[in-house]
Amino acid sequence: MIAAYKALIKRYALALCASAAVGTFAWFCAGSLAKYRIEQRLTTIHKELRAAQVEPNTQIDKVMRSLGSFDRSGEECSAGQYAHIADLVKNYRFIYQAAVQLENGKICSSYGREISSVSIGSASSRTSIQGRSYEVSSGQDVTADQDFIIVSEQSIYVWINRKILLDNLNIPQGVQLELRGPDGVSSVTPVGRGPLKLQALPPLGKLGTSPDKVYVAFAGNRDELTSVISLPLSDLTALRWKLFIGLVLMFGALLFIAWKTQRYYTSTAVRLRKAIRANQLAVHYQPIVNLCTGDLVGAEALSRWRFKGVSVPADVFIVAAEQSDLIRELTRSVIRQVAEDYSTYLWACKNFYVTVNISAQDIQDQTFADFVASITATYNMPASAIVFEVTERALLDQKSAAIQLHRLRACGHRIAIDDFGTGYSSLSLIESVPVDILKIDRSFIAHEKIAGKDALWRHIAKIAQALKLKVVAEGVETRQQLPHLASEGVLLAQGWLFSKELSVQALARRHFQPPMNVDPYAE
Ligand code: C2E
Ligand code: CA
Ligand code: CA
Repeated sequence: MIAAYKALIKRYALALCASAAVGTFAWFCAGSLAKYRIEQRLTTIHKELRAAQVEPNTQIDKVMRSLGSFDRSGEECSAGQYAHIADLVKNYRFIYQAAVQLENGKICSSYGREISSVSIGSASSRTSIQGRSYEVSSGQDVTADQDFIIVSEQSIYVWINRKILLDNLNIPQGVQLELRGPDGVSSVTPVGRGPLKLQALPPLGKLGTSPDKVYVAFAGNRDELTSVISLPLSDLTALRWKLFIGLVLMFGALLFIAWKTQRYYTSTAVRLRKAIRANQLAVHYQPIVNLCTGDLVGAEALSRWRFKGVSVPADVFIVAAEQSDLIRELTRSVIRQVAEDYSTYLWACKNFYVTVNISAQDIQDQTFADFVASITATYNMPASAIVFEVTERALLDQKSAAIQLHRLRACGHRIAIDDFGTGYSSLSLIESVPVDILKIDRSFIAHEKIAGKDALWRHIAKIAQALKLKVVAEGVETRQQLPHLASEGVLLAQGWLFSKELSVQALARRHFQPPMNVDPYAE
């Protein structure tokens, strides 16, 4: 009992450890996979922004270049110059205003007028890169309620509306975009969303994580200005969980398939098929004895299978063979073996017969009788030397069984009903199918039952006599059973009292030895 519990605990502990190992592995795989997928997603977004020519750096560059070619030597901006700046602002929706300072200090705005000054904060509030500075401003010069980045370079000023810029970029929901200089952040993120609080950027193109973000930095067209595209960290976590569940299901399915496959290959049926095909099944013979003379009149062929040095019980592998449709192959191999043994060792035993057990599938097999005929012909074995044993279970479809059994009988074989009396329709059976021998199941003649005056086996013996059928008592184990059998005229018997099953050589030797002592009262 304790050992059983220990085995159970061991089994569950093993299963638990295996699940934990698979779970941990899946969790790490899901983490790496999720990071890779997010990195790919952010890279794709960046590529798309670039392909659409809307990546902010590119846009700012274009504007700066266009205004850089401006002639600033005049006293005032001409109407054409005002129109040029205004056009530029019109072309880029996210540029709210642009202004150029002439050499004399006057500042011409895209509004078509001069402005007195541009309020740019102190140098410390600006991010300066290669002479271009970026300042996140509240934009009070223009309108009070908008958030701007003022980009300035060589007295050219561009007010970028951060919200419009982002709308224009068509950035997927949840994605945040920032421009970062080497010494600070110039954010083009929507109002209300603070810049990423990053300590240091990871290598370009590689995924980095902050307490609440997951991001990738990409080189802009100006080397120092980097685009950082980010997603909430929860996106990574959600994806990781999704992948984890997927992987666990996949690993589970793989383990299940592996377990099933392993079970399949270690199943009795598969091993048995191999054994039959490799001729590893043996046929042993249990003698059938004449209770008057002690002579061996026949023997029952019983299959024997040893797997890795251990005998597999016949009823176990026979049931497996019947369930997996291997039984026909098995029966044929037994018949072949019996014929070979007969022609080698038993041919000289006069009037000797071997009984072969057949199953329902053999009886339904239309080619069975032909197969048997071809084997007896090949081995020059008289058909009368093979008796087929069928159980009631195998004769459920009595009509078609009768046809098959008649064919076998027509060839000269005899038919024995095995385990007679254990089925439901024993009596109707002997009426509808051709029968020569009844084998009384050993349960009926067991020690405690055999003496009964009204015991079932006595009725079976009487019916057999009335129908002129031979009777064989199976499983005779003690001498005490013999007088009872004799009293009902049962002349044939097999069982451990006489012999267990023997190899064919031992059987042949036994046949030519003096008759067995079958005296019921002998010591
Ligand atoms: P069965 O046809 O009733 O065969 C007799 C069984 O009783 C054999 O068991 C035999 O060893 C056992 N036996 C014989 N004498 C005694 C005895 O005195 N006392 C006891 N307790 N048992 C005895 P086995 O060999 O284990 O076979 C079991 C069953 O497997 C057979 O029952 C038969 O139905 C089936 N079987 C065996 N070989 C084949 C075969 O080649 N083909 C088919 N279809 N079935 C087979
Ligand atoms: Ca039998
Ligand atoms: Ca039997």
